[in-house]
Amino acid sequence: MTSASERVLIQSRGGAGAGRLRSAALAALTLLTLAAVVVRQSQAPRDGVAHEFTGFTMGTTYSVKVAERLDADRRAQVRSLIESRLDRIVGLMSTYDSTSELSRFNHRGQTDAVRMAPELIAVMTLARDVSERSGGAFDVTVAPLVNAWGFGPAQRPAHAPAEAELDELRRRVGYRRVFIDGAEGTVAKAHPAMFVDLSAVAKGFAVDQVADALTGAGLERFLVEVGGELKGRGRRADGSPWRVGVERPDWGRGVYRVVELFDEAIATSGDYRNFYDLDGTRYQHIIDPRTGSPAPAHGISVSVIDEAAARADAWATALVVLGPAEGEEVAIREGVAALFVMRSEGGLREVETPAFAARRAKADAGAR
Ligand code: AMP
Ligand code: MG
Repeated sequence: MTSASERVLIQSRGGAGAGRLRSAALAALTLLTLAAVVVRQSQAPRDGVAHEFTGFTMGTTYSVKVAERLDADRRAQVRSLIESRLDRIVGLMSTYDSTSELSRFNHRGQTDAVRMAPELIAVMTLARDVSERSGGAFDVTVAPLVNAWGFGPAQRPAHAPAEAELDELRRRVGYRRVFIDGAEGTVAKAHPAMFVDLSAVAKGFAVDQVADALTGAGLERFLVEVGGELKGRGRRADGSPWRVGVERPDWGRGVYRVVELFDEAIATSGDYRNFYDLDGTRYQHIIDPRTGSPAPAHGISVSVIDEAAARADAWATALVVLGPAEGEEVAIREGVAALFVMRSEGGLREVETPAFAARRAKADAGAR
């Protein structure tokens, strides 16, 4: 997923690569021109955007577009608000930083209840709700399996892990065995070696947090994006809605469809971005906790729209686990606004749940 205004950049990056093949001189020229385009885009207002703040967080990039003019002081204030929110979330939830609050819980090796920051309690409670509603497809305790399949810090395996190994690891997996006490603000685990990895929901949660901070500072028109999960508030300066592109899920790149956001968030998960082929099978990074193995990779993306980016993020991952048939059934039952895009013989095929389709009336009304 990428914001629609960035599409131009993505396409011109491809063009620069082709130029390099033709001749070094032409490539250098192309890259120079491209650099100029990048600089101009980040400085000048375009597409109804007055300011853009970008950077790196959570192992990925973020961008915040603001459609209101801000003076230099206000810009500095907004940048520091964004950075402090993101830094706080990393300090709480990172599994790469061994000193984060979540890492300390994970490596504690004990099962007693531990007090946690309200943000961690909130995101873990939301995750548990999606786990329940998705029949266990979403599970933040799945990390031992993610690692065994080579999608965590551990190396890719030379062969698919044996059933016995997966069965052993599954003893340490299961969202029901993490106990959250909302009133006390504590969390405990049933097995000392269990650990919680919020990769599938934390980017969305970060988007919500940054959006709340901006709203709290009085901003009314902005688009927040962290690692491809997005939330729009208000409209662009020219009155048009925020528009974001949903990527093609067929191992290639490019925008499949543009979606307009009306004070809501969109998150996308897919099996086409992080995968490898081993012994004739394609394995992808989203694990089906019910089998202990990666959910089958067929070239699918699921985009979910929700008021909360965290919930959209969690559901998008859950629906990739469930796949097109079961995923559609569960999304309809749970009233989730989801767009499934998948490969089929004739090209790409899409399915919208009724809640997703119902947004069209709202979008049509909004476009007037
Ligand atoms: P996302 O990009 O939001 O779909 O999150 C994918 C990441 O979440 C993976 O790279 C894993 O770290 C983790 N993950 C994999 N399978 C699951 C699952 N069934 N439930 C929750 N998190 C998962
Ligand atoms: Mg997700």
